[in-house]
Amino acid sequence: MTPIPERRPRWRHLALLALVLVPLLWPLQRLAERYYTGELLEQNRQTLDLYVANLLGTLGRYEVLPAILGDLPVLRQVLHAPDDMHTMQANRLLSELRERTGADVIYLLDPAGNTLAASNWNETDHFIGRNFAFRPYFQQAMDGQLGRFFGLGTTSGKRGYYFSHAVQEGERILGVMVVKVDLDFTEALWGHTPERLLVTDPFGVVILTSDPDWRYRATRPLNAEEAERIALDRPYPTTKPEALTLSLDDWLIQSRELREIDWSVRILTPQAQLERPVRTAVAIGAATLLALLLLVGLLLQRRRHLLERMALDAQARRELEQRVQERTQDLEALNARLRSEVLEREQTQQELVRAQDELLQAGKLSALGTMSASISHELNQPLAAIRSYADNAGMLLDHGRQPEARANLRLISDLTSRMASIISQLRAFARRDPSAPEPVSLQAALEDALTVLAPRCTALAVTPTQSLPDSTLWVQAGETRLRQVLTNLLSNALDALADVAPPRQLLISATREDGYVTLSLADNGSGFSEESLRRACEPFFTTKVSTEGLGLGLAICDSLVRSLGGELQLGNRAEGGALVQLRLRCANPGRTPKETLLP
Ligand code: ADP
Repeated sequence: MTPIPERRPRWRHLALLALVLVPLLWPLQRLAERYYTGELLEQNRQTLDLYVANLLGTLGRYEVLPAILGDLPVLRQVLHAPDDMHTMQANRLLSELRERTGADVIYLLDPAGNTLAASNWNETDHFIGRNFAFRPYFQQAMDGQLGRFFGLGTTSGKRGYYFSHAVQEGERILGVMVVKVDLDFTEALWGHTPERLLVTDPFGVVILTSDPDWRYRATRPLNAEEAERIALDRPYPTTKPEALTLSLDDWLIQSRELREIDWSVRILTPQAQLERPVRTAVAIGAATLLALLLLVGLLLQRRRHLLERMALDAQARRELEQRVQERTQDLEALNARLRSEVLEREQTQQELVRAQDELLQAGKLSALGTMSASISHELNQPLAAIRSYADNAGMLLDHGRQPEARANLRLISDLTSRMASIISQLRAFARRDPSAPEPVSLQAALEDALTVLAPRCTALAVTPTQSLPDSTLWVQAGETRLRQVLTNLLSNALDALADVAPPRQLLISATREDGYVTLSLADNGSGFSEESLRRACEPFFTTKVSTEGLGLGLAICDSLVRSLGGELQLGNRAEGGALVQLRLRCANPGRTPKETLLP
């Protein structure tokens, strides 16, 4: 198992996030600031244009008025002859003109600066009789120029812009015409907005503003000459204007110079006003970035999970493969062990077969030993007969009895063929028989065995009683092997009969049932003792004391019969004596041996 990677602490994630966010937010903020500043500047520029146009328009309307009014005969009349009637006429005219032009005050001064007629003649603080020679606009007009002046009204205290012009007759100056314009309303126009209006005169002193605290304060330091001028002209309520410092950190300032009157108009926007939209933009940007980063994080996490799962899968697969491999190796080892066991078993089998084979041979030799006496007896008899026939034939030939001699020779010939048959049977008995089982006639094999044992039967006065079917009983066997087995069994019966007194019986019968032929050999000998019943088939088990008993006969028979697919059953008869039964498979002589052998 791969160890699950340790989770990084949360604060490290946050620090990482901040590390990514901050450098991205900084330019975003700059961008938003620049954008909103641009927006604001554009908007303010328009406001400024409007305001300046309004201001210049207002002033421009009145600029030409003094020169034009100076030509009115009624006013000139007053300058020529300032009597009550003409003065009243002039006052009324000026009053009317003031109403029509919207000016604040219109008034006429004589060359000494005394007010002869005024539009406010019927108001309490009228100008009639007052001297304005100290006002700069009077001097300017007397010098033949268009007089301009900003200042507070000496009686009203209201701010006003004064235009003045000389009334001339030829080169002579008869008087001065003055029009005062009220500027307070231009300030009121501004209203209550976060932006501030600031209009400064040539001294840099604030004359119009939307912030009352700033009024009549100097935006720049005044030099001595200017201070003297202000003290003289008294345009403001104070002769020493306080300084006003405006920080660019707090204000966004836009200005416009009015060259005609040497004024400067400014709009000041609090920097704070920019903060909110910028903050909003940055917040939105930050949220978007955060969402993006989280998305990226999520995708990365999913990718990591996927990789982890793939690694786990691969691990599991590897483990499975390894297990399969181990199992395969186990199985292979098991297989090898089985193979070697099978091999061992085969070798054991082969050894067993060899041992059986050797036992068979030994059994045969033993049987040969047993039979050698009878064999020699069996062969000596015909040999003695042959000798006497040959001697006899010689004598018969000597006597010219040729036909009788020939008969003797024929007898000799018969005897030799009988001897040859005995010898051939013995050879067949001794020979190894490796051939596969084949259909063999039980009767013929029994006949052969009895032929071999005939001398012993004769010696023991035993006449075997046979009760066999007439039809040939074909059994699955080897001819030599079957004869060998039968010889052995019969020989054992004869051995048992030899120990008892006559009459000796040997009963041979056969039946066929369920694909098997059962041959029963019964004798009235001593029968099997209890021990020999148990152990008779063991090799070298014998109860016979003489050298003829090797104890191999039944062992060999048993193994031979088994090898043929049959069986050997040993028992005793109820009336005394042994009963040996040989069961063998039936065979069909027409079929091939192999087919019949198959179970
Ligand atoms: P052997 O004949 O050399 O003793 P066998 O294996 O042929 O060896 O026989 C084993 C023993 O079985 C004999 O020694 C004998 O005791 C007993 N036996 C065999 N056949 C008979 C029989 N027909 N009647 C009584 N005993 C028998």
